[in-house]
Amino acid sequence: MNSKLLHISTIGCQMNVYDANQIAGVLAPMGYCGTDDIASADMVIVNTCTIREKAEQKAFSFLGRLAKLKAANPAMIVAVGGCVAQQEGKAILKRMPHVDLVFGTHAIFRLPEMVRRIEASRCRIVDVRLSDTIEFDGPVAGPLADGQVSAFVTIMRGCDNFCTYCVVPHVRGREASRHPDRILDEIRMRVDQGVREVTLLGQNVNSYGNKEGLCRFYELLERVNGIDGLSRIRFTTSHPKDLSRELIDAFGRLEKLCHHMHLPVQSGDDGILKRMNRRYTRDSYLDKIERLRTTCPDIAITSDFIVGFPGETDRQFQATLDLIEKVRYDGLFAFMYSDRPSAPATAFSGKIDESVKKERLQALLALQTGITREKHQTLVGQIREVLVEGTSRSLDTDGLASVDHTIQWTGRTSSNHIVHFAVPDDQATGKELLTGAFANIMIERAHAHSLWGRLVQGPMGATPEKGEKPIAA
Ligand code: SF4
Repeated sequence: MNSKLLHISTIGCQMNVYDANQIAGVLAPMGYCGTDDIASADMVIVNTCTIREKAEQKAFSFLGRLAKLKAANPAMIVAVGGCVAQQEGKAILKRMPHVDLVFGTHAIFRLPEMVRRIEASRCRIVDVRLSDTIEFDGPVAGPLADGQVSAFVTIMRGCDNFCTYCVVPHVRGREASRHPDRILDEIRMRVDQGVREVTLLGQNVNSYGNKEGLCRFYELLERVNGIDGLSRIRFTTSHPKDLSRELIDAFGRLEKLCHHMHLPVQSGDDGILKRMNRRYTRDSYLDKIERLRTTCPDIAITSDFIVGFPGETDRQFQATLDLIEKVRYDGLFAFMYSDRPSAPATAFSGKIDESVKKERLQALLALQTGITREKHQTLVGQIREVLVEGTSRSLDTDGLASVDHTIQWTGRTSSNHIVHFAVPDDQATGKELLTGAFANIMIERAHAHSLWGRLVQGPMGATPEKGEKPIAA
C-alpha cells in the first residue's frame, strides 16, 4: 500500500487531542502516516473547538490559509472535524470551497469510508450525525510520540448538564459512557506501548456509567488502579455537583491516583451559579474542597472560571475573588464570557462590556498568580517524586544548573506541578534512560509556572515498582 501523508492540526481541549489520535489510528490502515509539513500533506485535517469565540475564529483563519495550499495541490484532501464542524455542518462547505469533508464529533469511525469515497470521486461530504450511544467502542488508539509516557483515554463522551454558557451538549451530544472492559483494554494496550500514566477523559467523569447502569466512576478507578505496569492515574473533568463521597475517599486509598483534582467552579456567587445552571452552591462546593483536603492533605486543587457572565455585578465578581482567596487554588484557567451559538446565555440580558470583562480577568489572574507563587515557594526544600516526561526546553538562567554540560529534564509531580531539573551529561543519562523513570527531586527554586530542582537519592527513595526503570543520581 502506498504511504500517504496526513497532517492533523488540533485546537482545543484534551478531548480533541484524544480524538486527533483516534483519527490518526483509523486512517493508518489506509496508508496515512503523520507529517508536520502541511505543504507536503495528502490530507490536512483541522480538528476544531467552539467552546469560545476565539478558538472558533482561530479554526476559520487556519482553514482560510489552507486555500492557497489546495490551489497549489488540488489533490490534497482538506477536512474539518471537531466541534465547529458539528455546529456549522454544510455551511462550512458553502463558506470554504476548498474544503472536501466536514465530519462531526461522532463520525470519526466513519472516516475511512468517507475518505475512500473522496479519493475515488472527489465528492464533497458532510457527516454530522449524532448518536445517543457509543456505536464503536474501540480501542483504536493512534501512534504515540517517541518516548511518550502519558496518554489520554476517553471513558465517556457528551454531556447532559446544559450549563447555560456551554455548547458541549449541542456539539458532542448526550452523555454516553464506554464499557469498562473496553476502557481497561485500551489502557493495557497503552501500558504495553510504554505508557506509565493515563488521564481518563470525559466532560463529567463523576457521572460515568450512571445512565447505562455500568459501574460507578470510583469503581472504574479501582479497576484501573489494579492494572500491572501502570503507575499513575489522572482524570478530568469533574462536575462539583456529582463529586461523590466515594470518589473523595478514593484519594485516600488508591495508591496510583494522583493527588490532583481539577474542579471547575466558574463563579463564587450563588446567583451567577444559578443563572449558569450549575446546580451547586458556593457553600456546597467549599464543603467538598474541605472534604478533599481532609482525605488527602497534599491534594492540589485547580479550577476554571468565567468572568463577565451576563448580569455579573461588581459585588458578584468580588464573591469570586473571595472564593479564590478562601480555596487558595494551586492553579486555574479563567476566561471572559463570550456568546456561543445555541447556548441559552446568548439570549440573556445584562451583557458585560469587554473592557469590564478584561479588567475582571486581569484582577482574577493577578490574585491567583500571587497565590500560585506563594504555594510554589512552600515546596522549596522538599523532595518530590517526579515522573520524567523528557528533556526540557526551559533554560534555568538564574540558578546553579549551567546550561553547558547538562541535560535538562522535565516531569510532573503527582500533584501535577511541572518540575525541571538538570543532570550533568557525563552521567550516562541519555534520553531513553530517564524518560519514563521516577526521579526524586529536591525543589530548589519556585517560578510562576514551574519548579526547578536537583536530582537526589532522597529519603523517599526511588523504589521502582516491577518494570520501572531505575535512575542514576
Ligand atoms: S458540565 Fe456544563 S460546562 Fe461542562 S460540558 Fe457539560 S454543559 Fe458544558
